[in-house]
Order: sequence, then C-alpha cells, then structure tokens
Amino acid sequence: MTPVAVEVPTEVTAAVGSVSDPEYPGVSIAALGMVESIKAGRTAGGLAVAVGLVPTFSGCPALAMIAGDVRAAVEAVPAVAHCTVEWLTDPVWSTDRITEGARGLLRDEFTVVLRRKDGGLRCPVCGSDAVEDRSPAGPTRCRSVAWCTDCRNVVEVMR
Ligand SMILES: [Zn+2]
Repeated sequence: MTPVAVEVPTEVTAAVGSVSDPEYPGVSIAALGMVESIKAGRTAGGLAVAVGLVPTFSGCPALAMIAGDVRAAVEAVPAVAHCTVEWLTDPVWSTDRITEGARGLLRDEFTVVLRRKDGGLRCPVCGSDAVEDRSPAGPTRCRSVAWCTDCRNVVEVMR
C-alpha cells in the first residue's frame, strides 16, 4: 500500500537538522547543504519518512555514519514509524550550498576553508591569500591540505 503523502512535521525537519557532520561536530548537515528533500507519508503504523541527502564528496566514509544518524534522529520522533535515507546523485553538492554561518564555523573552529570560484584560497588564521596547495591527500578524502606562507599554518581545504 502506498502511503498517503502528508505534510512533514516540524519535529521531523528539526530532527534531520539536528544531525551534525561527524567530521565537524556542531556543524549540521542542513547547514552544509546536504539535505535536499524530506517527505512523509502516513502508514498504518505511523509516519514513513524518506530523507534525500546530497553527499558532500562521494566515498567519504562519514556518509554511512550520517545516514545512520539521520535515521536514528528521525525515528526517535514519536509519530514516525520508519525512516529511509537516500543519497542523491542529482543535484550535485557544491560548496555554494553551505550556509554563511556554517562557513564561519568551519573557518573558526576547524581551520577549514572553501575554495573560491577563482580557485583561490584565503587563510582562515591570518586572512592572507598566500595559501598554497600542499598535498592532494588530506586527513580524509573530503579535504586536502594547504599551507599559508604568511602565518605558516596548515589549513584544510574542503573540496
Ligand atoms: Zn595565514
């Protein structure tokens, strides 16, 4: 039986929004622009919720954790009977989807910078543009490492 589509309860939206990226505790997947769609349908046992997420970087090992966290958070909402998480391949995630607030958190708390449209990088520590790519292999496959020649700090680049 196909569930009848219903409006998504705010508790469900809030539950999805409460999930943080495990690599950036305190930065929600919603603020990172990963939440593309939330749908709810009424079934005999309660609401069936389907969450469509956009992966930040395919193959990132954090993705399985994120899907599990979203399922757990949504299924903790009393009205929800079941939650499924789907990784969407369309649209493609880009750093444009990250909110201004999350950009600030990434910069200030995690020394992570986003590459600008022109390919340039700005040091999150001193604000210099003299940041050079250092190695394509960062601490995770989601990030690479760069080096600020002004303040001599290593910065991480989210790609
Ligand atoms: Zn610097």
